[in-house]
Amino acid sequence: MRKHIQAIRGMNDILPERLALWQQIEHTARAVLASYGYSEIRTPIVEVTELFKRSIGEVTDIVEKEMYSFADRHGDSLSLRPEGTASCVRAAIEHGLLTQPQRLWYQGPMFRYERPQRGRYRQFHQIGVEVFGLTGPDIDIEVILLTARLWQRLGLSGFRLEINTLGDSAERQLYREQLVAYLQSRADQLDADSQRRLSTNPLRILDSKHPETQRLLADAPRLLDVLGSETRAHFERLCAGLDAAGVRYQINPRLVRGLDYYNRTVFEWITDDLGAQGTVCAGGRYDGLVEQLGGRATPAVGFALGLERLVEILEQSGFTAAPALDVYLVAVGERAELAAPALAERLRDALPNLRMQCHCGGGSFKSQFKKADKSGARFALILGDDELDRAVIGVKDLRGDSEQGTPSQAELASYLAARL
Ligand code: ATP
Ligand code: MG
Repeated sequence: MRKHIQAIRGMNDILPERLALWQQIEHTARAVLASYGYSEIRTPIVEVTELFKRSIGEVTDIVEKEMYSFADRHGDSLSLRPEGTASCVRAAIEHGLLTQPQRLWYQGPMFRYERPQRGRYRQFHQIGVEVFGLTGPDIDIEVILLTARLWQRLGLSGFRLEINTLGDSAERQLYREQLVAYLQSRADQLDADSQRRLSTNPLRILDSKHPETQRLLADAPRLLDVLGSETRAHFERLCAGLDAAGVRYQINPRLVRGLDYYNRTVFEWITDDLGAQGTVCAGGRYDGLVEQLGGRATPAVGFALGLERLVEILEQSGFTAAPALDVYLVAVGERAELAAPALAERLRDALPNLRMQCHCGGGSFKSQFKKADKSGARFALILGDDELDRAVIGVKDLRGDSEQGTPSQAELASYLAARL
């Protein structure tokens, strides 16, 4: 027997029964984003590798080991996008969008070569926001409130908000030196990854998951202590804005985020319901990135949320999708089978939002009716020779206990409209 070809490890099919959950999140997000005046942008899934190297940073997990990069037929190095920010910035520069503030959002698949596990896949999906041209902290507050509203609209109440500030690049530089000096003298107590990062990307050591390293960090110098008055004021206003809006948060001085381009505000929404992969949404300011990619200096802030993780939480919370069908049309006998498609089309003309499935493949009344019941539809429409001769149609309520009706075919649309 031939071996079945299977999907790539860490890349998932999303089957119809789970899509209702996905769509619930997507529709809700779309509505919330529209209510804040954000516009959707779509960019290619493949970009030149250089774009991600220059934006995300050479010594980040993503660029060092997670990118799907390949040479195309011309030998150019291309990569499947591992995240959305770099592409949005590229597009905004390329199309001259940065002459005025922009509030953009995107959604779609991202690709990272990670070890697949619960909540961590090689193709995963994000919805993200990028705002250009506004210095904050008012806009930082807005994007956080937007995410809070999304959780509320999805009925998700257990998320925790952590915030921090990374300061400006000069402040970070100063802090980096203090941190390295502190850790260098204790390097033998660091885990191997952190030892390596000491020379490449020391700030990342702060979010090491190693208990030993975490203990060491408890007494390390704090970035908050080296902040200048401007970044401090920015952060204080952010906190005050969240307080005023009634959004609870924790300040986590260890929150540094994995990517190089962040500065000042960073935040994460975290849940305890997903095991180790608890971050559902992460973002922050990246005021230097546009210039770093060749555009004119433009402040920016954004976030990305992981759809797979949200889907899993919604599933755990017992979310049940509304049935996908309103009616199922049963047609028994040769004449009825012939008449059914035309009748169905007239009904779709009259009720454009009606969700109707027509039975195909013949069979007895009993077997068709069973399928109608299993379809989850609210009503079965029944068309046989007898109904045809009398120009009526049987309507059976599959979920309630109302009597079977037999409206005329001409009245069918209004009959259904009154009952759905
Ligand atoms: P982590 O520390 O978990 O690797 P990250 O910092 O790499 O996260 P971001 O790049 O900030 O994650 O992505 C934003 C969100 O996208 C994450 O909070 C998460 O919800 C989701 N996400 C990131 N990587 C994956 C993945 N491999 N599979 C599923 N979701 C992911
Ligand atoms: Mg990661």
